[in-house]
Amino acid sequence: MRVYNFSAGPAVLPEEVLKEAADEMLDYRGTGMSVMEMSHRSKAYDDIIKEAEKDIRDLMNIPDNYKVLFLQGGASQFFAEVPMNLMKNKKAAYIITGQWAKKAWQEAQIFAGDGAVAVASSADKTFSYIPDCSDLPIPEDADYVYICENNTIYGTKYKTLPNTKGHILVSDVSSCFLSEPVDVTKYGVIYGGVQKNVGPAGVVIAIIREDLITDDVLPGTPTLLKWKTQADNDSLYNTPPCYNIYICGKVFKWIKKMGGLEAMKAHNEKKAKILYDYLDQSKLFKGTVRPEDRSLMNVPFVTGNADLDAKFVKEAKAAGFENLKGHRTVGGMRASIYNAMPIEGVEKLVEFMKKFEAENA
Ligand SMILES: *Cc1c(COP(=O)(O)O)cnc(C)c1O
Repeated sequence: MRVYNFSAGPAVLPEEVLKEAADEMLDYRGTGMSVMEMSHRSKAYDDIIKEAEKDIRDLMNIPDNYKVLFLQGGASQFFAEVPMNLMKNKKAAYIITGQWAKKAWQEAQIFAGDGAVAVASSADKTFSYIPDCSDLPIPEDADYVYICENNTIYGTKYKTLPNTKGHILVSDVSSCFLSEPVDVTKYGVIYGGVQKNVGPAGVVIAIIREDLITDDVLPGTPTLLKWKTQADNDSLYNTPPCYNIYICGKVFKWIKKMGGLEAMKAHNEKKAKILYDYLDQSKLFKGTVRPEDRSLMNVPFVTGNADLDAKFVKEAKAAGFENLKGHRTVGGMRASIYNAMPIEGVEKLVEFMKKFEAENA
């Protein structure tokens, strides 16, 4: 029996995708082998990765002057790839809205020291809001402005992008990838680890404006971490995470079938509203995020009593709602309600919360 899995990542995937992958496990479309077993240079695999790229381009409406790269190393490795590939002046502006932005900033400091500047932060209130980014002190010679667009741990999301004052915007979208339409042209680089909303851990998808992919990288940048290497070889410079990219491709098709990113957004808004509406009138549970900055994907909440929180998580688990424990820095609970979480999952969770509230009032 499958549970309702509210994990922040690796996270729930569409059941249809998993079933299809199971059907194709032993014999992928008459090849007599699993996708796990085939050469990444084979015709069958070439079709898989090309089709995956085509489908994500369709979904996100990615212009021709952007490359789509399928990479490894997780979002955390990409934290280092950003300065390695983009720093010309060793100057960059970071907006600190949580742990992942902070880690990316710290990684940039390895290369640029004080040149990696934090131009805004919401650390003063446990990252429970997105700072005003309309007029930030961005250094004139900054190579880029960096954000984490959806903060997986704290449950905040940018509703408007920062004013970068003409600088390139780099955005980590790991936990909101393909959750709603985006205007790719507003970014220099959009990237994310796929294990939150798109596929199995082990793949990073990076969408990079072509003019930012050059040989002019920081000295010492390894061959594999140079975007130009990956771009020149269509993400096949070395063996990619073949099977995981194949699953991502299936998720792209599933989203297309669901109606694309507009439909995904409507689906996600509907789910989030059910949970937030309940939280807003509950006398027991409280959302922790400033309402206008709330994420559609990650919903942290607390009772204000650590023992009661623990009791809730335990009883929820017994009732088939898994992975609701919040991140240790926020405490309480967190429901991650990614694309593949069905509406019934959220409805049933709220029903369960109501019952818990009544029993523990
Ligand atoms: C999970 C997460 C990361 C880290 O991803 P890894 O692939 O584990 O390195 C980075 N940024 C965000 C927004 C995340 O949610």
